[in-house]
Amino acid sequence: MTITVAIVGSGPSGFYTAASLLESGADVQIDIIERLPTPFGLIRGGVAPDHQTTKRVMKAYERTALAAPVRYYGNVLVGRDVSLAELRATYDAVVLAVGAPFDRPLGIPGEDKKGVYGSASFVGWYNGHPDFRDLEPDLNTTGVAIIGNGNVAIDCARVLVKTRKEMTTSDLSDHAAEAIEKSPITDVYMFGRRGPIEAKFTNVELREMGELEDCHAVVDPAQLPGAVTGEMSDRDRRLREKNLATLKEFVAIPAGARKKRVHFAFYAKPIEILGGGEVEALRLERTKVVDGRAVDTGEFFEVKCGLVIAAIGYTGEPLDGAPFDAKQGVVTNQEGRIERGLYAAGWIRRGPTGVIGTNKPDGDMVAEHIVKELAPGGKPGRAAFEALLAKKGVAPVTYPDWKTIEAAEIAAAAPGAPRRKFARVTEMLSLLGRPG
Ligand SMILES: Cc1cc2nc3c(=O)[nH]c(=O)nc-3n(C[C@H](O)[C@H](O)[C@H](O)COP(=O)(O)OP(=O)(O)OC[C@H]3O[C@@H](n4cnc5c(N)ncnc54)[C@H](O)[C@@H]3O)c2cc1C
Repeated sequence: MTITVAIVGSGPSGFYTAASLLESGADVQIDIIERLPTPFGLIRGGVAPDHQTTKRVMKAYERTALAAPVRYYGNVLVGRDVSLAELRATYDAVVLAVGAPFDRPLGIPGEDKKGVYGSASFVGWYNGHPDFRDLEPDLNTTGVAIIGNGNVAIDCARVLVKTRKEMTTSDLSDHAAEAIEKSPITDVYMFGRRGPIEAKFTNVELREMGELEDCHAVVDPAQLPGAVTGEMSDRDRRLREKNLATLKEFVAIPAGARKKRVHFAFYAKPIEILGGGEVEALRLERTKVVDGRAVDTGEFFEVKCGLVIAAIGYTGEPLDGAPFDAKQGVVTNQEGRIERGLYAAGWIRRGPTGVIGTNKPDGDMVAEHIVKELAPGGKPGRAAFEALLAKKGVAPVTYPDWKTIEAAEIAAAAPGAPRRKFARVTEMLSLLGRPG
C-alpha cells in the first residue's frame, strides 16, 4: 500500500520535497500540482535571464519529475480549480510549496503612481511570467530608482543596463528586450537604507557590475568605510570584506566611453515618490548607521526618475484551509508541519530568504514528517484526483505536454539563446491544440 502525496507548487521546494520522499525508500505516489503550465517556479520566472548556469538545476528537477512514482499536473490552480479541502480528502499528505510571490509594499506616499513597480512584477515581466506579460512598464526615462540592496535589486539593475549583445545567451523575453533596447535609460540608482557593509549582495553578483560593456559602476568613496567593523560571524565578515574590496575597486575603474551608470547609493531612505499621476522623482532622507541600524538625519534630497522598482522583499498569500501568519507572510507551521497530513516547504514555510539550495533541507524535513507519521493506504490519491479534475472540466498540462512547450521554445530561440519563452498561457495551450 502506498502513501499518496500532493505537492502544491513546482518550484525548488516542491521538487526537493518530492526528491526526498523518493530517496526515503517509502512506498509513495507523488503528484505535483502547478498553477502554470510550466514547471520550476522562480527558477524559470525569477532567476535572472542572463544567469543560465543557475537555471541548470532544472535538469535535476526533471529527473525527479520523470521518476515512476511522480506525476506533474500543470495549469491547475489550487484555490480555484481544486480546493485544499478537496486535496486533503484525496491524498494522505498535502504539501504547500507555493512560494511567496507577492511584493511587500514600500509604505510611502506616491507608491500608487504610474511607473512604480515591485520587483516581483518587474522581474516577472522581463522573465516572461504570464501574470506580468502585459505590465508594459514605461521605460521612456533616463533615470531609474531601485530600492533595495540585495541580489534581486542587482538583477533588475543589470538587466536594464546590459547591452543586447551581453544578453545574447540569455532567455530575456522578447517584449522586455525590445523595450529595454529602445529605452533612453542612462542612470540607474540603487538605494540602500544602510551602508555598504550591511548590503546583502553576494560578491559574485556585485563584481559583475564592474565588468559591464556599456555601464559604469559609480560609488562615492566617501561612503566606503576603511574596514569592516562590528560583531559578526567569520563567514559574514569575509563576505562583507569582499564586497567592500569590490566597491573600492569600482571607485578606481575609469568610466571610459560607457554610456550608462549604475549608482550604488547608500545611507538613503525613500520618503516619497513625487510627481503627478506618473513618477517624476524620488525623495529620500540621508541616514547614518548606528549599531547596525539606519538612523534618520533630517537631511533630504531628491533624484529625478521615471521608474521606481522596489526590491525590498516578498510575501506569501493565505490559502483557504491553511493557517496563515499575516505578519510574517507565511503559513503557520512547526518545522514544516502544519498538522497531520498538511505540510509546508520553501518560501511559504520560512519566508523569502536564502538561495535555491536552502529549500532542500525544507524538503527533507517535510518528507521525514510524512514518512514518520502517515500509514500507507489511507486515501486514494491520483485516480481520485484525476476523476475530480475530469468532473470539473479541468484538463491539466502533463509533463510530456511541458516538454512539447519546451521543445517549441528551444526551436524558436535566437542564435546563442537557450529558448524563446512563451509568455502567455493561451499560446502554450494553443500549441498543445487546446482552447485557451
Ligand atoms: C528575482 C529572484 C531571483 C532569484 N535568483 C536566485 C539566484 O540567482 N540564485 C539562487 O540561489 N536563488 C535565487 N532566488 C531564490 C530562489 O528562487 C528561491 O529560493 C526559490 O525559488 C523558492 O522556492 P519555492 O519552491 O519556495 O517557491 P517558488 O520558486 O516561488 O515556487 C512556487 C511554485 O508554486 C506555484 N504556485 C503558487 N501558488 C499555487 C497554487 N495556488 N496552486 C498551484 N501552484 C501554485 C508557483 O506558480 C510556483 O511555480 C531568486 C529569487 C527571486 C525572487
